[in-house]
Amino acid sequence: MNFHKARYEMKELIILRSLNTRIALTEKESSYYWNLEKGFQGEQKFDGLLETLSGNYLILNDLLLEINNSTFQIDSTLIFKDTIYLVEVKNYEGDSYLEGDRWINKNTKKERKNPILQLKRSESLFRQLMKELNYNSPIESYLVFINPNFYLYHAPMDPSIILPPHINRFIDKISLKPPNLTDKHLKFAQKLRSLHLNNSSFMQLPTYNYDHLEKGITCPGCHTLISEVKNSKLICESCGCSEDVTSAVLRSAKELSILFPEKSITVNTLHEWCKIIKSKKTIRRILVKNYKLIKLGKSSHYVCPQKES
Ligand SMILES: [Zn+2]
Repeated sequence: MNFHKARYEMKELIILRSLNTRIALTEKESSYYWNLEKGFQGEQKFDGLLETLSGNYLILNDLLLEINNSTFQIDSTLIFKDTIYLVEVKNYEGDSYLEGDRWINKNTKKERKNPILQLKRSESLFRQLMKELNYNSPIESYLVFINPNFYLYHAPMDPSIILPPHINRFIDKISLKPPNLTDKHLKFAQKLRSLHLNNSSFMQLPTYNYDHLEKGITCPGCHTLISEVKNSKLICESCGCSEDVTSAVLRSAKELSILFPEKSITVNTLHEWCKIIKSKKTIRRILVKNYKLIKLGKSSHYVCPQKES
């Protein structure tokens, strides 16, 4: 039995990443963006560890759920035969300590939202949701600190907190879980996936408009703007990453559609957006080959075939 809700980069992260390159974000916006970026990297790292698990389990990533008008998000939900694991992954760095319920960064002395309380809240809401769906299973919830450079002073003797040196032991523990998932488990996983909220109203984005954004193609590796095209390849001066023109143009077209869903993709708009590709013919050739041409009277634009379905 294999069932997997993949982890996609959130729309919010994709937009903020692009804005970070194309406009000057305020300090607050920029720190919010970098937190998302770091969080996503941490989750990917955790996914990599789970890949080593063999056996039978269902995994749902980044569920955003709602019960009794309260929404909650879970980084990884693992459904095993006799247990459900709710895992919150934190990519914190540096030293923190706890003062009662207050979670404090040791260097800056700034308090941050206590992730233990956040985890307990999610667990309680998940329990209520399970009850409503008539599903019974023990739940264990965990807070996994994935970054080896994180240290928590006065860490409570709470088995739900998995600090970096204990992650492998944690993975070993869940790998020993019995297999034999049944239809009941799969149906529950499908139900959870169907309840996942795809709600963009949770996005915290600065206001932005097309004219104020710097145009050009960003590097897929380090997200800076590319300044060199050589032999049909875009080469990043900052990180050395290279990508062929077609893939870079298609990536940029997708980025433009995510930032401005109302904007039609035409040869002219994409030519202006990509900026570094001087030839309109190249843009047209790529669009003709990969997008579908829609003619409306005298004007025409292109749509991405995946988007249409
Ligand atoms: Zn780069």
